[in-house]
Amino acid sequence: MIQGEGNRGRKESHGIEKRELVKCPYQDCDKGLVEAMFGSRAECHQCDGFGFVDKETGEALPEREIIRQLVIRLAHQRMEAKKKICELQRSNQYLQQRLMDWERGR
Ligand SMILES: [Zn+2]
Repeated sequence: MIQGEGNRGRKESHGIEKRELVKCPYQDCDKGLVEAMFGSRAECHQCDGFGFVDKETGEALPEREIIRQLVIRLAHQRMEAKKKICELQRSNQYLQQRLMDWERGR
């Protein structure tokens, strides 16, 4: 029998796990906000104003988890943006080269 792991033995993983998020299923929810009375807007209760819920549970994530998930997504977006910039620089170089060739050939 394995000792040490009792009922509270939920392992706290060190890496941040990316969880599937889906758009808040609440039909009146618009990016976490719902129309309240008198045209004002209030935070959606389904997703806690986040606009997304956990795909598995269909519930809002705790705030700490939301922040983690946003951090993961930001990091990912930053990577994508970097890739795009590289591509743009490459096509820019290519265009500059073509322009120079064209000017030389005139
Ligand atoms: Zn919502």
